[in-house]
Amino acid sequence: MKFNPKKSLGQNFLTDKNILKKIVDVGNISEKDKILEIGPGTGNLTTYIIESEPKHIIVVEKDIELIKILERKFKKEIQIVNEDVLKLTQDFYYDKFIVYGNLPYNISTKILSNWCLNKEIKFKKLILMFQKEVADRIVAKVNTKNYSRITILANWKFNIRKIFDISPECFFPKPKIESTLLEFIPKKKIIDIDNPKNLEKITKILFSQRRKMVKKKFIQLFENFSALSKKTNIKLTDRPQNISVDKFLMLVKEYENQSN
Ligand code: SAM
Repeated sequence: MKFNPKKSLGQNFLTDKNILKKIVDVGNISEKDKILEIGPGTGNLTTYIIESEPKHIIVVEKDIELIKILERKFKKEIQIVNEDVLKLTQDFYYDKFIVYGNLPYNISTKILSNWCLNKEIKFKKLILMFQKEVADRIVAKVNTKNYSRITILANWKFNIRKIFDISPECFFPKPKIESTLLEFIPKKKIIDIDNPKNLEKITKILFSQRRKMVKKKFIQLFENFSALSKKTNIKLTDRPQNISVDKFLMLVKEYENQSN
């Protein structure tokens, strides 16, 4: 069946068999594991996931044309869901899945931040591919230019490891950019906040002017901004990229205390 890849859905299919196999191996799948694959496309990665013989596989694909291809290819071997991953409710994440996804580039940050901000979803681990530039931001260290909102959201919830870069040659059609595979393991203990929306809000406000000192934003957000600066050891002359993940969470806690 002839299929024309759609740019609007980020359809660059991974065709390098060696890389596909290596990606699946990162999951260390056992017969007890349940797998959720986001954006299976024509099922290239799915084929190798099936070979690892997990207990159950669910794939979520938005493109109805691809759904037909997947149904023909895999029949009843896997559960195929025709849905937009951004519209899945938390009820859908009913198990501690191992999640695989060669994510569509245009919404990869959105998918990851939705998962980070949802307190109810529990994963076993995630093995996700991003465009390299986004992956560099996710694993960035504090005080570097790549340190961003997504660094804070993701590192709040997960221990993250870079696995490897993947060259454009491994895909069809060939993307213009390099890709990177990351592994996310949920942290056993995370700093608890009442509402993750507050973390989203504080990071959004502070990073809206990432080159500016935080003083003006602190005055806007916190009643006792001066005392808070001393307590958290954040200088009012710092830029947002100088504030560690844990300190951002201290700020959220403070924000929640003053709003209660
Ligand atoms: N996993 C396949 C592979 O590696 O060859 C395809 C990866 S391709 C980069 C991204 C896939 O995500 C495409 O199949 C695309 O149709 C699907 N997709 C795009 N937007 C989506 C969405 N909002 N929800 C679910 N799937 C989506």
